[in-house]
Amino acid sequence: MSFRAKHLLGIEHLRPEEIVTLLDLADTYVDLNRRSIKRSNVLQGLTQINMFFENSTRTQASFEIAGKRLGADVMNMSMQASSIKKGETLIDTALTLNAMHPDLLVVRHPHSGAVNLLAEKVNCAVLNAGDGKHEHPTQALLDALTIRRAKGRLHRLNIAICGDIAHSRVARSNILLLGKMENRIRLIGPPTLMPTGIEHFGVEVYDDMRKGLDGVDVVMMLRLQKERMDGGFIPSEREYYHRYGLDTEKLAFAKDDAIVMHPGPMNRGVEIDGTLADDINRSVIQEQVEMGVAVRMAAMDLLARNLKAERGARATGVMV
Ligand code: ASP
Repeated sequence: MSFRAKHLLGIEHLRPEEIVTLLDLADTYVDLNRRSIKRSNVLQGLTQINMFFENSTRTQASFEIAGKRLGADVMNMSMQASSIKKGETLIDTALTLNAMHPDLLVVRHPHSGAVNLLAEKVNCAVLNAGDGKHEHPTQALLDALTIRRAKGRLHRLNIAICGDIAHSRVARSNILLLGKMENRIRLIGPPTLMPTGIEHFGVEVYDDMRKGLDGVDVVMMLRLQKERMDGGFIPSEREYYHRYGLDTEKLAFAKDDAIVMHPGPMNRGVEIDGTLADDINRSVIQEQVEMGVAVRMAAMDLLARNLKAERGARATGVMV
């Protein structure tokens, strides 16, 4: 099998073949999810724990549904209510859970790198459901699957990622993934919302939407991550919408068949016009949510196979 990863911590260490393997498997799960009986038993007998230290609607629900459809025993830890409040460290919490023998640990955390740290301390497969400004690998994979199904390919496309790039783990994971698949990436946004060291990203940078969107195949909008801003990065939301918000007038600069994406949650009238977001002829935002479940099923299936192979090898004393 060409998917060898033990954990899914980011896109950074995935090889293009591993990405393709995962997306191909996810395609089969899209079919399963469209049937009236959505059931497989590939995770039967395995325990999945979802630990979300930061709010989430889509991602948590998506991982929960994904695990249940594959037959896992799924538990959602409410981290607000847990011992974290009593001062227990992330590592202590992880070690306590580890002693309960989970097989898949899905973790979201406000600090970049926290999920990687946790993965070093446990004996199960860890999936990063978003860590600070660092990575959100399943979001990039679901975006890739959405693009591949809409455009018929995932290479040699012109893709614009627009808005608050600096605070966005979605942008970072997408830049890594789409770059590995040899696409041309343009980042569009105000200079105050561009990360430092942008010149090393292998992307083109624009601060004018009309110029940046010219002739692109895909327009990916991002939410203004106000919770990660500690000062005035934009003059006002009104001004931001005027210059960087996506509406039909600005979209007209992209290709006629360009698709519009947004990872959610959306601020309608701030980064995107609400009517455009709902236009099923241009927007694939609902497809992104659908692909999210399939991609998470594929990711957990592949990691569980590797975990079982490793445990089997350890039991028989064979090195893998
Ligand atoms: N839901 C995505 C994330 O968790 C995007 C966002 O919050 O804007 O990063």
